[in-house]
Amino acid sequence: MNFLKRYANWLHLQWPAGKVEKLPLAGEDGETNVEGIRVVGDLTGIPLLKFSADTGAKAVRAFLEESRFEPSRDPEDKILDVAIIGGGVSGIAAAREARQKKLHFAVFESKESFSTIRNFPKGKPIFTYPTDMEPTGGMHFRSEVKEDLVEELEAQQQDAQIEPVSAKIESITRQGDHLFLNKDEGEPVVARAVVVAIGRSGNHRKLEIPGEEKDKVFNRLHDPKEFTGQKVLIVGGGDSAAEAAIALVEAGVEVTLSYRKAELTRPKPENVEKIKSLSSSSDEKLALKLETEPTAIHDDAVVLRSRQSDQEETIENDVVFALIGREPPLEFFRRSKLKVLGDRSLSFWLGMGAFVLFCFWLYHWKGGKPVPFYGYLPNWLSPNPGALSNWLQNLSGTIGSWFRDPATLLGTVSRSASTPSFYYTLAYSAVVVIFGIRRIRYRKTPYITVQTYTLMAVQVLPLFILPEIILPWLGHNGAYDSGLGKWFADTFFPSVNYDPNGREYWRAYGFILAWPLMAWNWFTAQPLWGWLIVGSIQTFVILPLIIRRWGKGAYCGWICSCGALAETLGDRHRHKMPHGPKWNRLNLLGQGILAFAILLMIVRIVGWIAGPDSLASWIFTEGASKLPLLNYGWFVDLFLAGVLGYGLYFWFSGRMWCRFACPLAALMHIYARFSRFRIFAEKKKCISCNVCTSVCHQGIDIMNFANKGLPMEDPECVRCSACVQSCPTGVLSFGRYDKEMRPVYDLLNASPVQKNENDKS
Ligand SMILES: Cc1cc2nc3c(=O)[nH]c(=O)nc-3n(C[C@H](O)[C@H](O)[C@H](O)COP(=O)(O)OP(=O)(O)OC[C@H]3O[C@@H](n4cnc5c(N)ncnc54)[C@H](O)[C@@H]3O)c2cc1C
Ligand code: SF4
Ligand code: SF4
Ligand code: SF4
Repeated sequence: MNFLKRYANWLHLQWPAGKVEKLPLAGEDGETNVEGIRVVGDLTGIPLLKFSADTGAKAVRAFLEESRFEPSRDPEDKILDVAIIGGGVSGIAAAREARQKKLHFAVFESKESFSTIRNFPKGKPIFTYPTDMEPTGGMHFRSEVKEDLVEELEAQQQDAQIEPVSAKIESITRQGDHLFLNKDEGEPVVARAVVVAIGRSGNHRKLEIPGEEKDKVFNRLHDPKEFTGQKVLIVGGGDSAAEAAIALVEAGVEVTLSYRKAELTRPKPENVEKIKSLSSSSDEKLALKLETEPTAIHDDAVVLRSRQSDQEETIENDVVFALIGREPPLEFFRRSKLKVLGDRSLSFWLGMGAFVLFCFWLYHWKGGKPVPFYGYLPNWLSPNPGALSNWLQNLSGTIGSWFRDPATLLGTVSRSASTPSFYYTLAYSAVVVIFGIRRIRYRKTPYITVQTYTLMAVQVLPLFILPEIILPWLGHNGAYDSGLGKWFADTFFPSVNYDPNGREYWRAYGFILAWPLMAWNWFTAQPLWGWLIVGSIQTFVILPLIIRRWGKGAYCGWICSCGALAETLGDRHRHKMPHGPKWNRLNLLGQGILAFAILLMIVRIVGWIAGPDSLASWIFTEGASKLPLLNYGWFVDLFLAGVLGYGLYFWFSGRMWCRFACPLAALMHIYARFSRFRIFAEKKKCISCNVCTSVCHQGIDIMNFANKGLPMEDPECVRCSACVQSCPTGVLSFGRYDKEMRPVYDLLNASPVQKNENDKS
């Protein structure tokens, strides 16, 4: 038992498993599920001034590129071209852009413009990351302290003559071509497009401990000097907590900073350095209590519990600051019918259920397999593609003769096209190509271009054209009638009656898809020695070698057909993969399925040795096939990989099967623990925005490696490059350790930020 625990920990459970915060679902330039509404600023997930300004201006530009957006530009028009909700940095950046483009717009602000910044503590230093970034729209941030920043921003607002309207917007409703902004008071405002720039204006997160309601507990620090001489506890591990601690110590306050984790990784490097130096200085003004959490707040004391030893300590205290962040205003989005990441409504479950049922039918039809406890699909649910082939072959004239003659290309295709799997593979390949081209256009990095073309080529050539057209066509033209050709075909594609082309050309998938993903060249009544040799070299020699150098993603992100679909069709669904420790435990399911495949293989080999009448052969052919859960073909191949793997695609991302259940991935995870592949992180650039973690469709908590400067080595990684590509500050790079354990970076650039930096230098 102990061994299994240690094994599970070594393979999967030791890696960080942070969750992804709930935010409105926004695509490129803040696009949402409601036409005409874009989300900008902090709500896009990157809580920095420059990004807020950048996203605000970009959203207005994106509206202008939409063909449906027809601005009137008439200041007298009752309908606004653009309504901007929120007068923070992103809202004012959007307004400046709208002014520049001569649009008819208005900004609606519930408090006063830049209220978030006005609420920063007095004299708070301002960090303007990334230093090289120049936000779209030209807003600048040159100030070094809060008061100067407010003046600088006000000046830019006045320059563009922006006068926000004082109103709180409660929700947005779409009616026909127009959007109605419902105010807390008065008539709704009508607009053609809406920019939502309301920042993190939701509730402050709660400590959920006794005493939290006391007057001495605050969520925001205004003037540090008010607390001079007092004993203050700050709870939190982000920039707000770190900056408040620094400001209070400088104002002569005795500060205790409590954070539940073992290391301060989220604040900016300058803040971390300052905290470390203050906490180690001899005047003992700052006590840094890592791995602790408050359990009770009394009038003159607080109780802190150590997360390591579970022991409690009571410390004298006058004031508590709970600086553990604010919730995004999710209710605003729900009222406005804007989708929120992770929200699962009735329509979510109904839609997914219907698609799973469709996949249930599709994979039984495609595989010609009986439904457990029911039997074969009825005729009305089982359209026969052979009818089309027959019709083509019965055409009169020259064309008909081409279809009738199997030695012509048309003749071969018409025979291949008499099975459902031909249409399935054709549609699969077409989807990979169409969505692959879209991915290349959307993501625009050299890595993605080369990777996607490779995936498309592997899918179309060896996984479709080769088995469905080239191999059978060669066969019909006598290539396998004698000599080496005959040996090759007899070894790899035995003759059969059931296949319209006369041989099992589908086995050619085995040239690309390795055991145990493609188990059917191994689970045969008699050993197919050719496949056993080719497959063993693939699974036990080639895969370990390529994984050692490039990681598991060399196969899962560059070759495998399931990976091809997940990276193309699944590209826009990656953020739907659930994260967190519970889901990470499910990563071990694949190990169970791998063990099942190995057990079946052993039974199969014993059956080969003991003969077809042996118990082992009976178990394999009869026993296991009668019980759906023991029938590998039905349970693993059809139900887990097909029905659930694809059925959950648009609801839980395209990598459910790959992450949790694929037995080949389970084997490769073991190889990957010995890999030199890493995703390296330049720690000082990381702003702990969590964007990388949120786009990882293998559920990896990449931020928790990056903000500690640790190379990412979770074996689940499929090298999709989404984290590297999406990181706003270019922290991450693919690479590997050389023999001396020095990082060697990939030549193909996967980060647009790094590419821009390289192009400039
Ligand atoms: C303590 C603290 C320190 C920070 N330090 C830095 C730093 O040093 N460097 C840095 O780059 N970034 C820093 N940031 C982050 C930065 O402040 C934000 O990224 C930026 O302010 C976000 O701008 P925004 O326009 O998205 O939202 P906000 O600035 O929050 O603006 C949202 C506006 O919308 C208004 N509003 C909300 N709801 C409604 C409604 N329903 N109707 C009408 N109006 C509404 C609000 O009143 C507010 O004025 C810090 C943030 C905090 C909290
Ligand atoms: S996890 Fe399995 S199915 Fe997915 S890409 Fe890798 S090998 Fe293919
Ligand atoms: S490349 Fe990044 S996003 Fe893709 S699987 Fe690996 S860690 Fe996740
Ligand atoms: S590495 Fe991740 S957390 Fe750090 S800046 Fe990049 S996306 Fe944000």
